Amino acid sequence: MAAAPQTVLVVEDEASIASFVAAYLKNAGYTVRTTASGNEALRLVDSEKPALVVLDLMLPDLDGVEVCKRIRQGSDLPVLMLTARDEDVDKIIGLEVGADDYMTKPFNPRELVARVRAILRRSTAHGADRESAVIRHGDLVVDAGRREAKVGDQEIQLAPKEFDLLWELLDHRGLVLTRDQLLERVWGYTFAGDTRTVDVHVRQLRRKLGDASPIVTVWGVGYKVSPAPTAREDSAA
Ligand code: CA
Repeated sequence: MAAAPQTVLVVEDEASIASFVAAYLKNAGYTVRTTASGNEALRLVDSEKPALVVLDLMLPDLDGVEVCKRIRQGSDLPVLMLTARDEDVDKIIGLEVGADDYMTKPFNPRELVARVRAILRRSTAHGADRESAVIRHGDLVVDAGRREAKVGDQEIQLAPKEFDLLWELLDHRGLVLTRDQLLERVWGYTFAGDTRTVDVHVRQLRRKLGDASPIVTVWGVGYKVSPAPTAREDSAA
């Protein structure tokens, strides 16, 4: 017997978009709840316990940014944001909001389903193999089990995909990973294409980690983390 279908909450006030997104997700085997209201969305997150939220940026009451921020205060529930403009992307993925991914309208509903599936596969696969892993790189300490990143004694708040991307690079330190590889490993997409979300996440990581950021751009190829310098604690021991 297959597992119970996962619920996807679709928050979108344009009825035509909401209904075709819902139809495609239902076809893909998900239970779908829809609402046009940000406030109602927060209530449904509590009552329906969705596995993922597809969240439109512009809503009539509470906008998508505020809804996502409030979801993030309590959980790592995956959020795929829908936006009308590319310019919103830095903000959405960024510092305060912390969406897992975004799609710019108009989008291909098949691609939306592929991304939803990939995000859910990633979020349920997390855990076991990483539970007790801690990586140190200079002043940066990343604890996979606690999903915690610290620079010295200061904890750095990272959005879920920022954390996963940082971990993937640290875990492969010394190797260059292409944007497509990172997209596949962190977001779970197997098709090549729009890798901008990788660049946006790297930019946010650098902003948050400051001088402690270990990420190096390899022009024309992708990103890497240099082999770890000796951590201070180790050298003092
Ligand atoms: Ca809207």
